[in-house]
Amino acid sequence: MSRWWIWLVVVFLVIGLLFLNRAHFGVIVLHYHAINDRTGKEEIIAVRPEDFAWHMEYLKKAGYNVIPLKQAVEYLSEGTELPRKAVTISFDDGYMDNYKNAFPILKKHNYPATVFVATGEVGGINRWDLGRGFAELALMDWDQIITLEEKGIAVMPHTVHHVDLTTVSKVRRKEEINLSKKVLEDHLGREVTYFSYPDSGVNDEVVAEVKKAGFGAAFTSSFGTNVYKKADLYRIRRMPVKEIHKGFWGRLLFVIELKLCSLYPF
Ligand SMILES: [Zn+2]
Repeated sequence: MSRWWIWLVVVFLVIGLLFLNRAHFGVIVLHYHAINDRTGKEEIIAVRPEDFAWHMEYLKKAGYNVIPLKQAVEYLSEGTELPRKAVTISFDDGYMDNYKNAFPILKKHNYPATVFVATGEVGGINRWDLGRGFAELALMDWDQIITLEEKGIAVMPHTVHHVDLTTVSKVRRKEEINLSKKVLEDHLGREVTYFSYPDSGVNDEVVAEVKKAGFGAAFTSSFGTNVYKKADLYRIRRMPVKEIHKGFWGRLLFVIELKLCSLYPF
């Protein structure tokens, strides 16, 4: 088959997806990490601020409704009403660039968001990534975390030391989950109710421990939307947004993935 046909199919697919405007199921949780300009080959999780700004602007223009994570979880657990085309925004790891680069953009749109931080690494660097070819990135300190909280950005735990909970001992697993909750609650002076698994490290034992610790919901990196009665509250899906979503083609991919994500799976 000639390439001509392949392109025709791709073009029809893209047009079809873009026009499927009304088909949106459940709630999409966008999943960001770092927001900075360091987008070399090894920086696959960093989104440039200009691309992040474009993503946020697109949500508004395309009629998406950005809701707080709490509202998304209430919908998933109790079936409360959602606005049309509901999206919520989350960041993992707690990079300082979230505070410096992402927050002003979120504030401009008055969008709520949630940041999951490794409580034992606050004020430090992304030590867990250094052996994997990633650049060194600064993490937010407690003052910045508290400022974000005061400005409407929720902060939740992502273990103490950013460990894959499926690879550590039972004792360590319990400590990483429970201590991260306690430390964050002590700093913020409120209960923290949601958790995110580092490296998407989750299995039945991890879920049991997260439930036992008192969390009401937990987030993975699995792609997809979340629909009431069908979603697993302790394996909530997200839509990863990364370095690949940059520039013209990357932004188009963002648009297409948002659409695909809202259709899959349920
Ligand atoms: Zn992480």
